[in-house]
Amino acid sequence: MSPSPSRPTRRPERLLILGSVLTVMLIVAIVTALLIREHGNTLRTATRTANNITQLIDADVLRNVELYDTALQGLIAAAQRSDLQGVSANIRHLVLFDRSAAAPYKGDILLLDADGEVIADSSLLVPKAGNFADRDYFQVHRPHPDSGLYISRPFSARCVCDDQWRIAFSRRLTAPDGSFQGVAVASMRLSYFHQLFSSLSIGSNSTINLINHRGILLAQQPLLEQDIVDKDLSQRPNVARMLKERDGSFRGISSVDGQERLYTFSSVGSLPLIVAVALSTDEVFAQWKRATVLISLATGVLCTGLLWLTWMLSKELGRRHRAEQVLSELAATDALTGVANRRTLDERLRLEWDRAQRTTEPLTLLMIDVDHFKAFNDRHGHHGGDEALRTVARVIDDNIRRPADLAARYGGEEFAVVLPNTDAKGAWVIAEHIRSSVEHLPRVAGADQPITVSIGASTWDKRSRMSLEALLLSADQALYQAKHTGRNRIVDAANV
Ligand code: GH3
Ligand code: MG
Ligand code: MG
Repeated sequence: MSPSPSRPTRRPERLLILGSVLTVMLIVAIVTALLIREHGNTLRTATRTANNITQLIDADVLRNVELYDTALQGLIAAAQRSDLQGVSANIRHLVLFDRSAAAPYKGDILLLDADGEVIADSSLLVPKAGNFADRDYFQVHRPHPDSGLYISRPFSARCVCDDQWRIAFSRRLTAPDGSFQGVAVASMRLSYFHQLFSSLSIGSNSTINLINHRGILLAQQPLLEQDIVDKDLSQRPNVARMLKERDGSFRGISSVDGQERLYTFSSVGSLPLIVAVALSTDEVFAQWKRATVLISLATGVLCTGLLWLTWMLSKELGRRHRAEQVLSELAATDALTGVANRRTLDERLRLEWDRAQRTTEPLTLLMIDVDHFKAFNDRHGHHGGDEALRTVARVIDDNIRRPADLAARYGGEEFAVVLPNTDAKGAWVIAEHIRSSVEHLPRVAGADQPITVSIGASTWDKRSRMSLEALLLSADQALYQAKHTGRNRIVDAANV
């Protein structure tokens, strides 16, 4: 067999590429994990901010509603006092509206009788005639003694000439026997909410909303739709979810503009109102998206650079590796014949000798010498001699088959064959194949004799006590014997 290295070496460039690819995968995994974590943090921060906004609005609305309620309860208490019948209209007016503190965006506070007629007005000493029996609050209070504080649907004022929307807070006037006596009602301009909402900066595509528990929109800032105030939104999926859950946060698609928003909402105290902050997720994640694009680009460039460098390095390593392989093959090969050289023979023989000692398997060494080669050279010239040596080497190499077998040029026109795990009988067969194949080579033009070889064979087996040197010597002696007994033959050292 040819003197190729005994085992294929692991290509370092493959390890390098694998290492780089793993590094790149690790970098991408770490960056992705960090970006996902940052996405979660951004969402949490936005939710917390929206929560703070709803709490702020809740507190402000609650405080104002309390002011209205105090005024209404004061009005009812005063209206039910029997000692006010005889006093002047001025005093009565003062007592009735005593607790009507200066609530912001306050409209009129009215006292209606059991038929809905105005019997007292906070802004006029003599109330303007008017009937409000058709208003929703009147309809609610009349049959329900326990209706408490009622917050009406938005409406446009009847007697004031502005087109501002209002809502009314109202309470029932109930006689000691439980019968309906009328309604105390205070109206509030919805611009209060718009003012309150617009003082909070939440982004141009995000909205703050106030809806009641029936899904009627009372206020929205900024307005996403025309005429949305007083609209029943309870059928819209996002609003339906808020009405059901009352408090919480979720991401949903707006049915108005199809944009995704982060909805954070909470009930205003125990009032039938819900404040909902809808933050545009585009705005919430805008900064995160910018950072993600930049980091992804930087990571991409870094990883591509790393892979490119690795590729260049591995190409260079491969080139060097191939050059080293060629060099080591050259160093192990005989230049003239292409079989292993003497150095390789020595190494392999030592290796196989040690293996044989361990495994106690037989080891045979053949020493092969071309017969009368000096004369051949003289007749055919050195060039012809070289050609003949190449041919003999090829024949020897062709006749050994196992991967561990080795044919080598020992020196001059002498060759050696190492046959591991081969006993004398098996080695004889191989030696005979070599001998007869050489003998039957086509004759060189002008040659009257065929090229022949003499072979000395020596086998180590577990019964023999010889050393490696003795093995070499005995093979040499067998070869010498073959020469002396007529050449073109094989002699086994055991028979010398
Ligand atoms: P014997 O049958 O006893 O072996 O006779 P021989 O002529 O082969 O032996 P001898 O040792 O006297 O001659 C060996 C010759 O082999 C001497 C040399 O001219 C020739 N030779 C050795 N190496 C080379 C080589 O590399 N090329 C060529 N062409 N001839 C070589
Ligand atoms: Mg010789
Ligand atoms: Mg010779």
